[in-house]
Amino acid sequence: MPRLHMIFDLDDTLYPERDFAIEGFRSAARWAEQTLGVRDVVEEMTEMLDGGMLGQLFQVILERHAPDHTAEHLAAFREAYRRVDDPRLTLFPDAARALDHYERHGPMGLITDGTRAVQAKKVAALGLEARFARIVFTDALGPNRAYFKPHPRPFEEMASAIGAPGDRYVYVGDNPAKDFVAPNAMGWTSVLVHRPHPRIHDVAKVAAGGAPQHTVESLAALPDVLGR
Ligand SMILES: [Mg+2]
Repeated sequence: MPRLHMIFDLDDTLYPERDFAIEGFRSAARWAEQTLGVRDVVEEMTEMLDGGMLGQLFQVILERHAPDHTAEHLAAFREAYRRVDDPRLTLFPDAARALDHYERHGPMGLITDGTRAVQAKKVAALGLEARFARIVFTDALGPNRAYFKPHPRPFEEMASAIGAPGDRYVYVGDNPAKDFVAPNAMGWTSVLVHRPHPRIHDVAKVAAGGAPQHTVESLAALPDVLGR
């Protein structure tokens, strides 16, 4: 019987990315307090994030609370956000159960975009190394985000690393702007998970050729749509 390979996206597919951002805000806020005497900005930063304002957030916080800050301060503030060590992260409960269920069917994989060192911290914090036969950090495949999704190369690498001819592949992700173009083109099954929870990124536009074949509100519904 051909094996089934479940391949997952990471951020907002297996755990809430908002939680990682808040851990970063705590780290950045500690830096701001120590360096600039700015206090208690985590809640304010979180409200701005929930208002869809991640890009300008760091600059706005310093403008409000430390108007004499320099460009170097702003850079260091942002860096403290990215530097968060030992983030406390938890899998979505339905994601933890889906991983338990599907590791019986065949080797599984993870394909994730983003700064490699940051993504690796998330993987470690969630205890995911042992769960996956292969983890592809697209950032590690080449410079300047050249092989970020929707590029097909991370998916091709995954198939050659863990698959055999005749195997079935499923990619599960949350972002139709980039997650499903390559798997659709390669004959994989594509599943969008769209949970009702606060998200960092607004629901993305669907890329050409990137419409998911299935949409679920929880990974608990995967066996229903996949038939196993
Ligand atoms: Mg994602």
